[in-house]
Amino acid sequence: MKLSIYDTLTREVKEIKQSGSVLTMYCCGPTVYRDAHVGNLRTFLLADLIHRALVQQGFKVKFIQNITDVGHMSEDIVTEDKMLQQARLEARDPFEIARGYEELFHKDLQRLNILPASAYPRASETIDLMQQFISKLIEGGFAYATEIGSVYFDSRSYDSYGAISGNRLDSLKPGHRYEFSDEGDKKFHADWALWKAAGSRTEMIWDSPWGFGFPGWHIECTAMSLSLLEGHVDVHVGGIDLRFPHHENERAQSNSIIRSEAVDLWVHGEHLLFEGRKMSKSANNVVLIQDLIDRELDPLALRLSLLENRYRAQMDLTWAALDAANATLRRWRTAMSAWGDSVEAKEDAEIASAIAKDLDTPRAILRLRTIEKDTLLSSQEKRAFFIYADQVLGLDLMRTNVAKPLSEDQQNLLNERAEARKSKDWKLSDLLRDKLLAQGISINDGPDGQSWTWN
Ligand code: AMP
Ligand code: ZN
Repeated sequence: MKLSIYDTLTREVKEIKQSGSVLTMYCCGPTVYRDAHVGNLRTFLLADLIHRALVQQGFKVKFIQNITDVGHMSEDIVTEDKMLQQARLEARDPFEIARGYEELFHKDLQRLNILPASAYPRASETIDLMQQFISKLIEGGFAYATEIGSVYFDSRSYDSYGAISGNRLDSLKPGHRYEFSDEGDKKFHADWALWKAAGSRTEMIWDSPWGFGFPGWHIECTAMSLSLLEGHVDVHVGGIDLRFPHHENERAQSNSIIRSEAVDLWVHGEHLLFEGRKMSKSANNVVLIQDLIDRELDPLALRLSLLENRYRAQMDLTWAALDAANATLRRWRTAMSAWGDSVEAKEDAEIASAIAKDLDTPRAILRLRTIEKDTLLSSQEKRAFFIYADQVLGLDLMRTNVAKPLSEDQQNLLNERAEARKSKDWKLSDLLRDKLLAQGISINDGPDGQSWTWN
């Protein structure tokens, strides 16, 4: 069964099709001025889910994810490059900050068992390419340079502007704050900067046919996707907030250059909330992978929690859900070891169909729970179905659980409980069992006394 996903542009579930020699996929990457939080990671995990499903179906995938290290402007009252703003706050070199967060981004991808992309091009190292694309747009009559040396895309030159998000040009009112507050030199309020004159800016600027300056954010994704993906994107992924203006602008640029539809399928993942609230620095509720690790949770518990929800629905993640997912992962890994050591996968029709029909991961997970309990299936079959599912879910289910050592306190509680049982103090023994359970330790009472396992 072919993989079909909801396309934001046509508003229908469409089959992903390969148009060239390989299947081409693009996902907007991080702006590397801060850590990626679990919300950003939800979007990157969505791309990985699609990537894995395509690989499982036998496609050769070329996947590009960009690193934005220049040109992404903040939406604060004073618009400033996010990188330079952070550099000012930390009193550090912006490139040093960018490289540091880029490294952390790769570490997160590894911790989440995300398949590597074919390349992670950096905006700051793609300046020539962006300039070539900007020149093409000027030559084609889609963009114009201004006296002070900025270049804008002429939004009115692109008829179907707004088709992804529904934000048509006639409904975009002047006065809406676009990316730059000092854009007096543009012809129309909805035009956007492809190249911005340096003005008083002295860092992260480059020479260009229009003078010193820096690229806009949207042209970065056009340049990288068209040049690195054979001029056509079969599937494009990003978070829902990127529909407008980022993807609307990217589409206008790319389509104007190649004079046809550059992207076949636009996939947008919904946002993640945490404990009912939008994650933000000011609310002090930004959750990172490191926070999970500090709580002794497997980072893949995040992956499982997210998979239990549909990618197109807004989701509220909680610590309780992460704890539960962590326990499920441990249980599944224990079961997998008990089911043997074969590495063979066997397709399960229901899991295959759930994934193929717009990534219905909750259904796939439910099916795994049924397989786990099914008394008619052999251990070998169960293991093979789980391995098949894991190729797409990426939960690393063949990994064996690492036995965590008991703390001194926990060992004392266990000893106390053994004593209580010996002296037939059932009340105390139950109390101690509950205490241990709250710390993730399950007790079994057998003929040879008590034994314990981590939950
Ligand atoms: P940024 O690093 O801010 O450019 O964002 C990287 C990606 O994360 C983009 O695709 C955003 O749409 C996505 N994103 C940002 N916040 C969230 C969130 N709370 N939940 C899901 N995705 C998000
Ligand atoms: Zn992008």
